Amino acid sequence: MHIVRSDNSSTPPDPVPTFAPIATDTETHCPYCAFQCGVRLSESEGAVVVAGNQTFPVNKGALCIKGFTAGQTLDHPERLRTPLVRSSNGVLAPTSWDDALDRIAAGVRATQESYGPHAVGVFGGGSLTNEKTYLLGKFARVALGTRNVDYNGRFCMSSAAGAAIKALGVDRGLPFPVEDIANADVILLVGCNPAETMPPLMQYFQAQRAAGGSLIVVDPRRTLTAQMATMHLRLTPGSDAAIANGLLHLLLRDGAIDQGFVAERTEGFEQLRGVIATYWPERTEKVTGVPEADLVRAARLLGSAKRPMVLTARGAEQQAQGVNNVLAFINLALALGRRGQPFTGFGTITGQGNGQGGREQGQKADQLPGYRRIDDPAARAHIASVWGIAADDIPGAGLSAYELLDDMGRDGGVRTLFLMGSNPVVSAPRALHIEERLRALDLLVVTDFFLSETAALADVVLPSAQWAEEDGTMTNLEGRVILRRRAMDPPPGVRTDLEILMAVADRLGRGAHFAFVDSEAVFDELRRATAGGVADYAGITYEKLEARQGVFWPCPTEEHDGTPRMFAERFATPSGRASFHAVRHEAPAEEPDAHYPLYLTTGRVLSQYQSGTQTRRVEQLARLAPEPVAEINPHTARRARIADGALVTLTTRRGSSTARAKLTRDIREDTVFVPFHWGGAGSINRLTNPALDPTSRMPEFKVCAVRIEPQSDRKGAKSA
Ligand code: SF4
Repeated sequence: MHIVRSDNSSTPPDPVPTFAPIATDTETHCPYCAFQCGVRLSESEGAVVVAGNQTFPVNKGALCIKGFTAGQTLDHPERLRTPLVRSSNGVLAPTSWDDALDRIAAGVRATQESYGPHAVGVFGGGSLTNEKTYLLGKFARVALGTRNVDYNGRFCMSSAAGAAIKALGVDRGLPFPVEDIANADVILLVGCNPAETMPPLMQYFQAQRAAGGSLIVVDPRRTLTAQMATMHLRLTPGSDAAIANGLLHLLLRDGAIDQGFVAERTEGFEQLRGVIATYWPERTEKVTGVPEADLVRAARLLGSAKRPMVLTARGAEQQAQGVNNVLAFINLALALGRRGQPFTGFGTITGQGNGQGGREQGQKADQLPGYRRIDDPAARAHIASVWGIAADDIPGAGLSAYELLDDMGRDGGVRTLFLMGSNPVVSAPRALHIEERLRALDLLVVTDFFLSETAALADVVLPSAQWAEEDGTMTNLEGRVILRRRAMDPPPGVRTDLEILMAVADRLGRGAHFAFVDSEAVFDELRRATAGGVADYAGITYEKLEARQGVFWPCPTEEHDGTPRMFAERFATPSGRASFHAVRHEAPAEEPDAHYPLYLTTGRVLSQYQSGTQTRRVEQLARLAPEPVAEINPHTARRARIADGALVTLTTRRGSSTARAKLTRDIREDTVFVPFHWGGAGSINRLTNPALDPTSRMPEFKVCAVRIEPQSDRKGAKSA
């Protein structure tokens, strides 16, 4: 076991890039998305070389360009190598760790004394390892005594999670291994574009098609994934529940539902019938914009499938109706039946690197480790016993991510924020407002490895280690826990996030609860904390993860093999049956009108990842996607007098943003698509709508009303 080295020197180190040698041919995992491709790291002529690990059973050696170039982030010249503090003249200046930690402790105490414990907030991220996620949640409750801890996964996975818990009793993104995708005969893929966002996953869809299977893609855009599909249902943004209900209406009409499965394994179907009866094809076509003939053909494909599979992603989920949208697609999967049999069922494709583990280990406002509810007395008693505190000392549920950020600096809101692994200035909805709220804080502390847009606003910035410089576990989109191995030391002056949390807790007088020798010791406590919980990691050890290339939770004992496929015998609900939910389509919070006549929808592109803090700094990736591009239908562009390649101003009720026009028939005439990876004038999240889903508190990133206009700068424009 490696002990992660730290530098306790009080003198800032020389900020000259250095490169620590790599342990020979280390097997580890890509730092980016939830596919968590297995990689091999080696060194050649002073550079880190990243290659696909052929023996890792998920990506089987395949990587996308983000993975191949990930080594460039490690010795990047912009890497933070010393703590920074804001000086009296407003400039961020290098300082020692002692000074930075003292300032944090003094600021936290001042806020607690003036406003109480809940005025100190914690904001985490879905790319943090399980160990960091666990320790961050414990840090909030035990070191700070605050209820206000949440994370950016609230912006990513919370609607799928909320729906799965309601209908199936448990939220594991894919309750089956990804290899099942290759064996399904008909797949309905909703709001998901893995050909761009997760290319190595496509090998399973390609195998499914090669074996004669059908793929039906539901998306407002004709994405790369839609282009290779059997059918593309190009729905109006925000009409997901209507299309699911409309397809179920046709299955019922044609007698194509699995009556035996519905009777034996589910409940609530009769209450659904009345709602589904109102989604006749003409009405569904009117709401969704998908022609009746296509709806009928898609329903027939699904109804005749022996191994049907329904998969959703952010397209359906990032809406104020996100939970209902997912419930509607779960209804469809349950009615098709055969769920629990291999190669069938419902799943969601997780996005962020540790999107799954990040929502299980306690950095969410309403949860404790093991996917336990914070309002469950038994869960509180168990976690309190692991943490060595009284159950009454664990605070209750706090504010969800957007609400926490929205309240910063106000009466009753958070006054000091400790932020780790997130960049809300770029990734939060209504981002200009969030930037304003961050500026209103008394103290903002950010840990990061680059000076992100959010770190640039901080009062204290702590330089942290990156993926290849520390050990830790991640949980991929299948619920497979994997071990990310450390290949090299962090640069001098840089500490791991675990070391940082321990050091701050120590400064606050709570160090005894945070005395861990390494990440494995944190994981061992996490195992005890999750024992008996929904996401039970008790039987998972670092040794087992290394020997088996990952273990699927739940895994309650060291003798247990883990659980690749769930629900074979029963669902995780109290009755053991899955629940249908009678959900209706409801309009998005904001519809186009005379002032804002188009839908705006947002998403990702191949060569950037999330808020772009890492990928915008990688030369090849920045060359491939240097700026935001607005996909606009040529008819729409002609009406707005916008030329291909021209700069465009996009305006919603929350602000304006700039993007370069790309005219394409792959987007609907009533819709504009812009990726969200950039800050500043190119930040599309300055425009997105923070209308929240009532259950998941997920903002409506995928739909709002927008106006587009040409900018006077038409440099590089081609004629329309
Ligand atoms: S970004 Fe995702 S798909 Fe691409 S190499 Fe990394 S883990 Fe694999």
